[in-house]
Amino acid sequence: MLKIGCHLSSSGGYLSMGKEAKRIGANTFQFFTRNPRGGSAKPLDLDDIKAFEKFRKENEIISVLAHAPYTMNACAKDEGLREFAKNTMLDDIMRLDNIDGAMYNFHPGSHVSQGADVGIDYISSMLNEVIKKDQKTIILLETMSGKGSEVGRSFEEIKSIIDKVKLNEKLGVCLDTCHVYDGGYDIVNDLDNVLLEFDRIIGLDRLKAIHLNDTKNPFASHKDRHEKIGDGHLGLEAITRIINHEKLKDLPFFLETPNDIDGYEKEIALLKTLYKY
Ligand code: FE
Ligand code: FE
Ligand code: ZN
Repeated sequence: MLKIGCHLSSSGGYLSMGKEAKRIGANTFQFFTRNPRGGSAKPLDLDDIKAFEKFRKENEIISVLAHAPYTMNACAKDEGLREFAKNTMLDDIMRLDNIDGAMYNFHPGSHVSQGADVGIDYISSMLNEVIKKDQKTIILLETMSGKGSEVGRSFEEIKSIIDKVKLNEKLGVCLDTCHVYDGGYDIVNDLDNVLLEFDRIIGLDRLKAIHLNDTKNPFASHKDRHEKIGDGHLGLEAITRIINHEKLKDLPFFLETPNDIDGYEKEIALLKTLYKY
């Protein structure tokens, strides 16, 4: 069974997201833990979570993926911004630990002219302060396109962050298909070798989720502009190979394509017809 979902609005809470996912044929979903541009999270509603967990069991909604706000920059130059990133992550994880098997995805950050090495040090120090031995939530580093001074474009940078984190059994990677292609990994013509490289440098056991997006920009453009499935430079054939690849086919796929909910529903239905297992 294809594990497929999309980004949903979290404004109605968990149960409402679960119902929405089911309605559009998804068996997983992603959501922002709070306003993506920052701000505080709504108070934790344990009744909603209980109702969601019950609904989930009855309806086979599998893993859920939370996405940290974009404003979080763990390697900002400004200490206050780094502190904000740390506190946001601490608070998000404390909440997510109430959801069975939740994963938490974040953008490693932008080093803004400090250099990637400084960025990597800041990001790993934050993770060392945040991660607790008994936390259940797995934190995912998202692969980035290398726009501006983003850290996490290369597999080597992701690996350096992981290596500097003590409790790194709590870390995984979310591969964004738009970002890696924009970042210079040719998943259209050379998917096998990109995955071999991922395995050699990071280890495929770290790969926990895929952001499945087409891209508006050509190979290695470092742009990060998502496109609807099949309408961009990846194209439907490459995307079909991705969801069916031996090493990827069992992972959860999350659409972050420029769509309204009906558009997502159509893409999910289409991808199910292209899945061979
Ligand atoms: Fe993201
Ligand atoms: Fe993404
Ligand atoms: Zn993106």
